[in-house]
Amino acid sequence: MDNIYSIIIIGAIVFEYCLSNIIRKLNLNALHTKLPNEFSDVFDKELYNKSQLYTQTKEKFAYFSSTMMVLFSLSIILFGVYNILDEYILTLGFNADIINGLLFYGILIIISDLIFTPFSLYNIFVIEEKFGFNKMTLKTFISDKIKSYFLIILIGAPITALLLYFFKHFGDNAWIYVWILLMSFSIIMQPIFILFVAPLFNKFSPLKNESLLKKIENYMQEIKFPITKIEVMDGSKRSSHSNAYFSGFGKNKRIALFDTLIESMDEDEILAVLAHEVGHYKLKHIQTGIILSAIQSGIMLFILSFFINNQALFDVFHMNNLSIYASLVFFSILYTPISMIMGFIFNYISRKNEFEADEYSSQTTGSPEYLISALKKLTVENLGNLTPHWLNVAFNYSHPPVVERINALKK
Ligand SMILES: [Zn+2]
Repeated sequence: MDNIYSIIIIGAIVFEYCLSNIIRKLNLNALHTKLPNEFSDVFDKELYNKSQLYTQTKEKFAYFSSTMMVLFSLSIILFGVYNILDEYILTLGFNADIINGLLFYGILIIISDLIFTPFSLYNIFVIEEKFGFNKMTLKTFISDKIKSYFLIILIGAPITALLLYFFKHFGDNAWIYVWILLMSFSIIMQPIFILFVAPLFNKFSPLKNESLLKKIENYMQEIKFPITKIEVMDGSKRSSHSNAYFSGFGKNKRIALFDTLIESMDEDEILAVLAHEVGHYKLKHIQTGIILSAIQSGIMLFILSFFINNQALFDVFHMNNLSIYASLVFFSILYTPISMIMGFIFNYISRKNEFEADEYSSQTTGSPEYLISALKKLTVENLGNLTPHWLNVAFNYSHPPVVERINALKK
């Protein structure tokens, strides 16, 4: 440990692990409270106990899987696994950095997938199954995996190749070109995602419920929010957790409602949920989010430019050869403390936005009551944790705890 980078990297991994376990412990202790009054009409004692058991089961599993993850990350660093992999790729004799880089990333993805797939299998087919959330078959799981690999090869590989090319040929200013590349990519990906990627995983069909359709159209007209398509997505194919989302921008806005949402809520509640989503648009949360993450990635790429082929950083990973592709991986690990802080800030902003979107929904639909009952239903159905510890909220919650949202709506 004579190297400042190894102190930062090992320190950050261990610190993050310890902190997350302290938070987990606090969160488990915070479960031992009685049912908040607000929920006495939707939870009975048995269901409330079940929801607490769900949180406990999830937290214990997260403890186990994060322990395995930390042991995995530390051992591949300390035992020089990155170097073994790199040396192996160099013996293949491609003599082209970009191909070597793609192989390096590809093999890393496959190794970590092999190690962590059992965890996600256990989570879906044991835990979620036990609590009645899982609707996925093993066949869907496997076909999802195959499609994801297909997308990695079709979309991920070319963009990565381009990125490596920029870093190799554009010298000190490469980070600016890469930044522009990534920004344009995320804009181009929007329509590609809607038209090609999302339909690979789910079926979208037009909303047939006439009276709901009418209600939504009336509302959208009232608030001057033109929608080109209202669709139903078969979310029930995978899980009974429900949701609604918007996609597209400008004149081409579309709504996708999960079939599970339509099944479990009445029309006014669905409208209140939609109005919340519209709120995110109207209050420019989406736009500010895009700008903030653009700034954040700009800063990250700028810092990264100082760590390309940094010998001291490569020493931490016992590497014999310098390369741009490995620099990117090592930098992303070194960046852990900053990305933790960023995550903390982004979650804070997101929670603030959620309150604002709730208020928008309540104002434009004329009453907070439908959103409140929708939130309650969602919480019951998802066996949501009613009493999360505040430290857990601060670090991990992109949405405020449901009791706080309801209290704010009532004001
Ligand atoms: Zn929201």
